[in-house]
Amino acid sequence: MTSFSSPSSIASNSDQTGNVTYSFVIPIYNEEENIAELYQRLQALIKTLDGSAELILVDDGSCDRTLPLIRQLHQDDPTVRYVSLARNFGHQIALTAGLQFATGQAIIVMDADLQDPPEVVPDLIQQWQQGYQVVYAQRISRQREGIIKRLTAYLFYRFLQQLSDIHIPTDTGDFCLMDRQVVDLLNQMPERNRYIRGLRAWVGFRQTAITLHRPPRFAGDVKYTFHKSLTLALSSIMAFSKVPLRLATYLGLFASALAVFMMFLTLYWRFFNPSSQLIGYTMITMAIFFLGAVQLICLGILGEYVGQIYEEIKGRPLYTVKEIGNVPSPQTTYSQ
Ligand code: UDP
Ligand code: MG
Repeated sequence: MTSFSSPSSIASNSDQTGNVTYSFVIPIYNEEENIAELYQRLQALIKTLDGSAELILVDDGSCDRTLPLIRQLHQDDPTVRYVSLARNFGHQIALTAGLQFATGQAIIVMDADLQDPPEVVPDLIQQWQQGYQVVYAQRISRQREGIIKRLTAYLFYRFLQQLSDIHIPTDTGDFCLMDRQVVDLLNQMPERNRYIRGLRAWVGFRQTAITLHRPPRFAGDVKYTFHKSLTLALSSIMAFSKVPLRLATYLGLFASALAVFMMFLTLYWRFFNPSSQLIGYTMITMAIFFLGAVQLICLGILGEYVGQIYEEIKGRPLYTVKEIGNVPSPQTTYSQ
């Protein structure tokens, strides 16, 4: 089994690329029903492109027939390259792995369920050829996605934009085209908490959007469970905003102001209205619960950030690889 020694030691692939123009990076987790259709539609697209192309399929520890199907594609067509991760590391990490193995001058990131239609890729390429280093697809509608998913996604993107120090465009997924220059920079970023949409925005350069009516999945069930989506949302907020920490400070200040007010009120009751029923167990119980809640919330927020620091300093590899098919392995990338 191979594993990454350290993300910071990963060399850029660009100097050993040969001459691939377009890399399609596709993280795949249990998508056996989608692989054949995905491949066919990508091949139809690739025939129309003005440069050579490679597919980098990243199997994110699938437990269905995804990996055998990928192996078969690779055997039949050497432009299909693949990396199979040793377990399910999650979409963002699988995507990170794919970016590290891609060798093209323009790297196109897409989902395997055909919700990011290959037919839109020429529009992305056209913008790239006009000089944009990042071209991302912005969703103006989502078909056949539940009301809860649509609403939470709508609120999340706007919430993140409010909290974040940088401009992270709303309603954009990972579907995008990135120039080699941008991908090289992403590959050099050592952090483990990888919200690629945010990192992509952070890098800068010339960026533009194309709009898209997002189709439903071609087949199969959604692989982003509620838990995975919530984890992604929370970690993206922590990666791009310190506002929650500030919120803890504000909550503390608010609780202190309230405490001073209650102090004076209690003294007033004690000296000028000693018979008041308000002073007593009710007041004390409320105060204890309130202060306890504020303290726990602040501790929780702090704990989340400390947890992130802990994850970062452990320095474990981002992922482990169990099998690769025809992907050039950068010399400094692996330790056996
Ligand atoms: N995916 C992955 N690892 C995971 C979950 C999902 O590689 O742990 C892949 C999945 O196979 C698909 C993409 O990420 O290609 C998006 O997943 P999904 O369609 O479930 O999410 P949604 O489109 O609802 O955001
Ligand atoms: Mg999908």
